[in-house]
Amino acid sequence: MADTLAELPPREAMEFDVVIVGAGPAGLATAIRLKQLAAERGHELSVVVLEKGSEVGAHILSGAVIDPVGLNRLIPDWKAKGAPLETEVADDRFLYLGPAGQIRLPNFLMPPLMNNHGNYIASLGSLCRWLGEQATELGVEIYPGFAAAEVLSDDSGAVIGVATGDMGIGKDGKPKDSFTRGVEIKGRYTVIAEGARGSLAKEIIARFKLDQGREPQKFGIGIKELWEVRPEKHKPGLVQHSFGWPLDNRTGGGSFLYHYGANLVSVGFVVHLNYRNPYLSPYEEFQRFKTHVAIRDTFEGGKRIAYGARAITEGGWQSIPKLVFPGGVLVGCSAGFVNVPRIKGSHNAILSGIHAAEAIFAAVAAGRAHDRLDDYEQAVLTGPIARDLKRVRNVKPLWSKFGTALGVAFGGLDMWLNTIIPGTGLGYTLRHGKPDHLATGKASQFKPIAYPKPDGVLTFDRLTNVSFSGTNHEEDQPAHLKVRDMALQLSSELGEFAGPSNRYCPAGVYEWVDDGAGGKRFQINAQNCVHCKTCDVKEPNQNITWTVPEGSGGPNYPGM
Ligand SMILES: Cc1cc2nc3c(=O)[nH]c(=O)nc-3n(C[C@H](O)[C@H](O)[C@H](O)COP(=O)(O)OP(=O)(O)OC[C@H]3O[C@@H](n4cnc5c(N)ncnc54)[C@H](O)[C@@H]3O)c2cc1C
Ligand code: SF4
Repeated sequence: MADTLAELPPREAMEFDVVIVGAGPAGLATAIRLKQLAAERGHELSVVVLEKGSEVGAHILSGAVIDPVGLNRLIPDWKAKGAPLETEVADDRFLYLGPAGQIRLPNFLMPPLMNNHGNYIASLGSLCRWLGEQATELGVEIYPGFAAAEVLSDDSGAVIGVATGDMGIGKDGKPKDSFTRGVEIKGRYTVIAEGARGSLAKEIIARFKLDQGREPQKFGIGIKELWEVRPEKHKPGLVQHSFGWPLDNRTGGGSFLYHYGANLVSVGFVVHLNYRNPYLSPYEEFQRFKTHVAIRDTFEGGKRIAYGARAITEGGWQSIPKLVFPGGVLVGCSAGFVNVPRIKGSHNAILSGIHAAEAIFAAVAAGRAHDRLDDYEQAVLTGPIARDLKRVRNVKPLWSKFGTALGVAFGGLDMWLNTIIPGTGLGYTLRHGKPDHLATGKASQFKPIAYPKPDGVLTFDRLTNVSFSGTNHEEDQPAHLKVRDMALQLSSELGEFAGPSNRYCPAGVYEWVDDGAGGKRFQINAQNCVHCKTCDVKEPNQNITWTVPEGSGGPNYPGM
């Protein structure tokens, strides 16, 4: 056994035609379509999918109301094959909440694209588990518990695969008895399907300047609980969205509440990460939301059975980076294909996987490797994903610019005009301006927010809720949350911004504690991390980088 990492043996390498990082809808759709094409054309094609969760679906968190447009194309007979999309949307409700009441917006006022008829309420995690089975049946090799930690390149700089992280390194940075060397997984093409704010995607976007000339990517944090409610409170097929209270007019976001399955209600709250007040806690806003007079009744007498959080991409059309680089592509939310007003991205994740697979298959069949797959980018920018995203591209900037009441109204008008005569509406594309971390204001401009104490029935403290995420990390490993400059963290994150990490993290990972010498020390409870990536997005100085922990670590979502 080597004593230091410098003395480690070389890594073993495995070769495939296509390496896919991430078993979400985007990665699995890519894998399935590749194998379908190989079977149709009688080609041999090896495809591997790496997934950092302990199993497929363990790290998937979504709403989810699923538009089946992508699935219809990928597996047209998904119903016959038993896909877990069982609850069809029956009723759509939009509420504007005030502190003590609500206004229901008439459905006829909503732009048609907001209509959820024909969509399904389901657990995206369960759908991914099923997609994983379909992929395995087609011969895809899926390795859960393997986190891709490093991008591999050849001498020309082209991406030639990824390496999984070493396992069994102690907190002190030294190999333990359980040490296992990471493996190099090489391919002709590498597909980055890590979802929102992927760690390898971030590196690749920076290295190949894929975001040059594009608007910055924007994000929200989505915090979700899954409830089992009393049968008399359950309205199968009900989809309800709200905006307004408890957020103020300048803070974007809103709730979702979906009734499905056996008395299940998926309830969640999204806060746009361009919020200004560093004292704001998205987690506490979510807890407050559940106490609203129009909301609480659903949950009384029920029980919360799961909890989690995940960042969601919100930049839309104008923030899509260049999708191709030498040796690979970005698919799904690694690129950011969420339609923000519809709060939907899984359909575009699947469609992007299909487009990527078709471009990759053609290239491999032509004997190519490690070059740029421009056909994939063309397919995205001229196909259904573009049509879906272009017509809503101004909704988020209007909301940010004019606040919730006016911004949502202007956004709705823009969508209506675009529906009646495509390409009308504002007629041009609004900019987002700055990335979310730069939106955070200094603490001196704001007052602390006094949030109510949890009652343990309808509202919960963060750590109790984290215990419902199934999160588990090997504790004796180097922290996967890397702080570049601790002095800056103290002087600025705490000194100027009053420590917002303690409030934006939905898992209580960050704390400023007494250092025993009259000062403060930044404590990182990395074992609680639910991999939402919010710190990587919102840290005001971009001083925290999220990296992959040992494979299998993180949440174990049952069906989120
Ligand atoms: C709160 C919330 C509500 C939403 N509601 C809806 C909705 O109602 N309808 C809808 O259509 N969409 C919704 N979305 C958006 C939707 O979830 C995403 O668009 C979709 O999940 C993107 O799919 P993906 O495959 O790109 O990424 P993901 O679903 O995030 O999957 C990425 C996978 O890659 C794995 N991974 C990441 N990095 C690595 C690595 N380095 N090594 C190995 N594995 C890795 C992850 O563990 C994960 O399993 C919602 C999102 C959120 C957060
Ligand atoms: S540490 Fe970062 S990624 Fe982990 S739960 Fe907290 S905010 Fe999310």
